[in-house]
Amino acid sequence: MIPPAFEYLRPKTIPEAIDFLQQYGDDAKILSGGQSLIPLMKFRLARPGYLIDINRISGLSYIKEEGGYLKIGGLTRESELEHSPLIRAKYPILLDTTRVIADPQVRNMATLAGNLAHGDPANDHPATMVALGAQIVATGPKGERVLPAESFFVTLFTTELQHDEIVTEIRIPVQPPRSGGAYVKLERKVGDFATAAVAAQLTVDDKGVCQKVGIGLTNVGATPVKASKAEEFLQGKKLDEANITQAAQLAADDAQPSSDLRGPAEYKKGLVKELTRRALVRAYERAGK
Ligand SMILES: Cc1cc2nc3c(=O)[nH]c(=O)nc-3n(C[C@H](O)[C@H](O)[C@H](O)COP(=O)(O)OP(=O)(O)OC[C@H]3O[C@@H](n4cnc5c(N)ncnc54)[C@H](O)[C@@H]3O)c2cc1C
Repeated sequence: MIPPAFEYLRPKTIPEAIDFLQQYGDDAKILSGGQSLIPLMKFRLARPGYLIDINRISGLSYIKEEGGYLKIGGLTRESELEHSPLIRAKYPILLDTTRVIADPQVRNMATLAGNLAHGDPANDHPATMVALGAQIVATGPKGERVLPAESFFVTLFTTELQHDEIVTEIRIPVQPPRSGGAYVKLERKVGDFATAAVAAQLTVDDKGVCQKVGIGLTNVGATPVKASKAEEFLQGKKLDEANITQAAQLAADDAQPSSDLRGPAEYKKGLVKELTRRALVRAYERAGK
């Protein structure tokens, strides 16, 4: 339970952190909340020679609406999302998501950026970011790259991030009126990773017809799964029981779960169907029905 030895570096600026990343290459890792990285090191599943602790870089912790986006800084903690009046008032899907991550101690340290950069398909935020059409801002030696969440996750624990890039901001489009979202998760016990979970974000017109919908699935594939068939099916349709049931089935068809200690693959597919139904119903209620 004791991690291997490492050098500890504490940059005060982003350029300084990037310099360290370039200097030490694949042997270096960014340390944010440490809630995924430190356990991995203790189990000796990760052995970075250099830890670059970015916690002393100022100006990276914020939640604000600006230029048509909700902008969340690269060092913003789960607990800050959980207690933000803006998130509570306007982004209930984010509140749903952050609240079901681990426990308060973990949420006091863990960052949204770390949750995404880690590339774990069992993490909760990736599917929510896919449903919301979020963008991930990666800052590297050549400046900023803006990466859509949809293509950010490459495979298990692998993202589009280059070794010398840092996630400095997450951007979520400000949602139009009559929008609603929900994240629904089944876990074996409180604080556990998802057996499966579903994020749904939608916008309807004044007749209740779906104008826009995003659906992301957690822990039923090597990356968060975008339930494209269900999204296409719902576009331009009413959110009635029959259409929601059909969309839920299409989402289950897109899921690619494996059988493991959380249950057999067929059970997880059935779970995705039911969780999609619940997420869509709740999202529609929140959109003002
Ligand atoms: C007991 C326990 C239960 C948990 N349960 C859940 C759960 O139910 N759902 C869930 O989603 N998560 C869960 N987690 C994971 C937790 O949410 C993670 O800590 C978090 O997702 C990672 O954020 P961090 O800031 O702690 O990242 P760190 O652990 O510091 O880093 C994780 C990885 O991301 C990289 N990284 C971190 N920040 C950046 C950045 N800004 N730019 C580039 N790379 C970066 C690091 O180099 C490292 O590879 C749990 C963790 C614990 C310990």
